[in-house]
Amino acid sequence: MKLVCQVWRAFLLCAIVFPASFAAAQARPFPGPDVQEIYQRLLPQIEKIPAFDHHAHPGFSDDPDVDAMAAPPDASEALRTRDDNPELIAAAKALFGYPYADLSPEHSKWLVAKKAELKKQYAGTAYFNMILDKINSESSVANRAMMADYLDPKRFPWVFFADSFMWPFNNERETARNPDEGVFIPLQEKMLHRWMQQANVAKLPSDFDGYLRFLSQVLEENEKKGGIAMKFEVAYFRPTTFGDPTRAQAADLYQHYLAGGAPSEKDYRTFQDYIFRYLIQEGGRLHLPVHIHTAIGIGDYFNLSQSNIMNLESVLRDPRYRSTTFVMIHGGYPLEREAIWLAAMKNVYLDSSFGELAQYPSAFKDTLKMWLETFPDKITFGTDCFPYNEVLGAEESYWLGAKSSRMALAAALAEMISENEISEARALELAHGYLHDNAVKLYGDRVH
Ligand SMILES: [Zn+2]
Repeated sequence: MKLVCQVWRAFLLCAIVFPASFAAAQARPFPGPDVQEIYQRLLPQIEKIPAFDHHAHPGFSDDPDVDAMAAPPDASEALRTRDDNPELIAAAKALFGYPYADLSPEHSKWLVAKKAELKKQYAGTAYFNMILDKINSESSVANRAMMADYLDPKRFPWVFFADSFMWPFNNERETARNPDEGVFIPLQEKMLHRWMQQANVAKLPSDFDGYLRFLSQVLEENEKKGGIAMKFEVAYFRPTTFGDPTRAQAADLYQHYLAGGAPSEKDYRTFQDYIFRYLIQEGGRLHLPVHIHTAIGIGDYFNLSQSNIMNLESVLRDPRYRSTTFVMIHGGYPLEREAIWLAAMKNVYLDSSFGELAQYPSAFKDTLKMWLETFPDKITFGTDCFPYNEVLGAEESYWLGAKSSRMALAAALAEMISENEISEARALELAHGYLHDNAVKLYGDRVH
C-alpha cells in the first residue's frame, strides 16, 4: 500500500514538473510518425558525447600481446564479423580516405601503405590517440596480455587477464579436449609463466598459502602498473558454474598436483572454483573491478549452454562479494534479456561490446532499448575492437563499433521519446551515462 502511494505521489509530481505534452500521456506501444525526426535530432548530439570504451583490444595486428588468447584455426564467423563485410570499406574511407569500393588484395595494399605512413607521421603514442580522436572516444580500455609502449596509458587504461592462475598443473588432458583448447590452454600456461617472471618467481611456491600470496602480489603489481580491472575469459576453458570448496580442499589438491600428474576434470575444477572465488574477493579488497566474458565466443567448440551468463548468478548474488564490482563483458549476448536483471545487484554492470558488431544496428537498437528501459544506469559502452589482420585493424573495428553503438543508441532513445516513455532531456542524460559516465565512475579518478 505504501509503495502504491509513493508511486502515485511520484506520478502527480511528474505531472506538475514536466510539460503536458510529455507527462500527460501514458506510454504507448508504437512510436509515432515523429520517430525519424527525433532520431535525426538526437544522433548529432550523441555523436558529440566523448565516449569511454569499456572493452577493447587496441593494438597492431603483428603485436602478440593484444590478447591473452588467439583465434582458433578455421573458426566460423557470423555474417557481420567476416572480412568481406562492406561496412569495413566505409570504415576505411571515413578514417583514412580509402579511395576504392572493394578490399581486393591489390587495393588493400593502399590501405596498408596509408597506415604505415600515418604511423610515421603520428609517432609513438600519437597514432592510436589520433584514432580515438577520430571516433570521439576520450579513452578506451586496453584489455591486453601486457601493455604496449605505443599506447598512451592516460587514454588507454589497462585491463589485465587473470585466468591463467587457474591453470598451474599438468594441462595435457585439457589441451587435448578439442582443437580450440589446443590453442587456448598453452597460451594460459604462457601467461602464467609471464606473471611468474614479473613476480620474480622461478618456480611455483611449494605450498598453497605461498601460491595465494603470489596471486595477490601479481594483482597488486598490476594495479601499480596502471591496471584498472582484472578480466576473466574463463568461459572459453570450462563451464562457468562455480562450486564452493573449502580452502583445505583446494590446498590438498595444490599439494597433490604440484608434484605432477594430470588432475581429473573434477579435481581441476574444484581447485579452479576456489581460485576464482579468491581472485574476485581480492578484486573487492584492492578495488579492482572484475570483468567477465559473458557471451558466445570465438571457436566452433565454444559451449554456449555451459557458459550461460545465468550460471554466474549464484556468485553475483552472493553477499560475500558485495564489495567487488562486476562487469559482464558483452552483456551475456545472446542472453542479454536475462542478463539485464543481474544488474539489479548494486555491484553488477553490463558492457554492450560485441553485441553491436554481432548484430546490425536495427537489432542492437532493441537490445539497448530493453536495457535502457530496465537499469539504464548500469549499462556501459564498448567496441571490442581487435586487429583482425594487416588490412582490417583495430582502427576499423573501433570505428564500426562506435558508429553502430551511437546509431543504435539514438534510435532506441528516439523510440522511447516518441512512445512517451522519457523526455528528450532525460534521453540525453541516459546517453551520457551509457557512453561515458556509468563506466567512468567505477574507477574513481583513475580514468576519464
Ligand atoms: Zn574482447
